[in-house]
Amino acid sequence: MKVDHIGIAVKNLKEVIEKFQKVYPDLHFHTEKSKDGEMEIAFLKFENIEIELLESLKEESVINRFIQKKGEGIHHIALEVKNINESMDKLNNSHIRLINNKPKIGSKDSLVTFLHPKGFNGVLVELCQKKGI
Ligand code: ZN
Repeated sequence: MKVDHIGIAVKNLKEVIEKFQKVYPDLHFHTEKSKDGEMEIAFLKFENIEIELLESLKEESVINRFIQKKGEGIHHIALEVKNINESMDKLNNSHIRLINNKPKIGSKDSLVTFLHPKGFNGVLVELCQKKGI
């Protein structure tokens, strides 16, 4: 059981990284573009968790829409699971609403799916299964 990361919607990824570096000058992180090209993503590595910064690259992206509606801030929490299909089946059987009915390839080539915030107390929850598990 692990909270893999917390996703934060930001307007300017570099500025936010610099803020974290004021606290942790040796901060380790890596950046990548999302598969759909909608976002630039930075993963900041902490001991037991990562922070995922999400910057929109396109006007119509999910992150841009989120920021327009709610402003910058926490977008989702990601729970690591061993078998994403099994977890999705259990949630479906319990009528907990999923946003996607099939896992998709997310950052770092993990398999991901999202649960609807309406079914999870207002929190957007990502399930992720790491590559190679
Ligand atoms: Zn995420």
